[in-house]
Amino acid sequence: MKRILVTGGAGFLGSHLCDYLLKEGHDVICLDNFFTGSKDNIRHLLGNPHFELLRHDIVQPILLETDQIYNLACPASPIHYQYNPVKTTKTSVMGVINMLGLAKRVKARLLQASTSEIYGNPTVHPQREEYWGNVNTVGIRSCYDEGKRVAETLCADYHRQNGVEVRIARIFNTFGPRMALNDGRVVSNLVLQALRGEPLTLFGDGSQTRSFCYVDDMIVGLVRLMNSDYDESPVNLGNPREITILELAEKISGIMSQSSRIEYRTLPEDDPVRRCPDISLAGRVLDWKPQVSLEDGLTKTIEYFRSKTVEAQ
Ligand code: NAD
Ligand code: UDP
Repeated sequence: MKRILVTGGAGFLGSHLCDYLLKEGHDVICLDNFFTGSKDNIRHLLGNPHFELLRHDIVQPILLETDQIYNLACPASPIHYQYNPVKTTKTSVMGVINMLGLAKRVKARLLQASTSEIYGNPTVHPQREEYWGNVNTVGIRSCYDEGKRVAETLCADYHRQNGVEVRIARIFNTFGPRMALNDGRVVSNLVLQALRGEPLTLFGDGSQTRSFCYVDDMIVGLVRLMNSDYDESPVNLGNPREITILELAEKISGIMSQSSRIEYRTLPEDDPVRRCPDISLAGRVLDWKPQVSLEDGLTKTIEYFRSKTVEAQ
């Protein structure tokens, strides 16, 4: 049994990770400033003696005893990370410095939640870990993309310079229950719009692609990476099934057996055209690949949002 710190533990991925680690028998410390996370995501854990909740901002240092640190704290949806872009960069950069400093002090292993966004608008397809990316340094997505890139650099340097054990997960688009209703990412937006009988908003012509991974698969991948001996490079985690955003909208309508009107909106600046992970490294070193189909994952997500919208009425 380990003592494990999960920063961003009240968020979408973090709360599922807390659940998983507790089920495995560990003690979990969930740290969150509740910017995009919610107590609702972890309320069911509050009475658990193996679970502790800390309201804290990782931009500030913190001292505690821990064996492993999953550093997930950072808003992930463009509307939220662009709300206060300077704070977003601070969260990624100062946050990871604080967590790496803590890891160094208490000899903990740290897993950094990096992102497919470090590849920017990729010129290589699908994206392999060796690809260095194509990122605008001064665009509206840069606060997130460059913050996460520097965080990777800091992980690599704390490892080389101080011997801190680090793992870097490059997470591709992940979806599922507990995405916030106001999250603003495409799956939650389209599902909510469909449930409310509103038109589905597609940015651009909907021909841009993404590859969507169900949350349960992602959590297994993160835990396997943390506990694996592989530390030579970052590892892509995501579902390699690539679809256009228009196809995603059609799939959601199909599962819900309804025909929704589509409303086309302007494509946001620097929105990547194509994105799909090459996950052969994760297959080789973690024996990991996603198990949940897009259809099954969407069905579960739709059920979750249906229950939340009924609750809200
Ligand atoms: P989320 O917004 O639901 O969760 C982020 C959590 O971090 C929230 O609980 C939020 O309150 C907390 N947080 C934000 N700033 C903080 C700060 N300064 N101090 C303490 N807590 C803070 O997002 P998510 O989808 O669960 O993403 C979790 C992590 O995974 C993020 O680091 C994100 O960049 C990464 N990631 C997610 C995806 C995805 O598709 N979900 C893809 C790539 C990377
Ligand atoms: N998108 C969309 N409609 C929405 C929200 C997003 O068409 O209501 C598009 C967005 O422009 C992007 C894709 O869906 O091309 C995925 O967007 P998301 O914000 O989920 O993630 P990211 O762009 O970070 O991959």
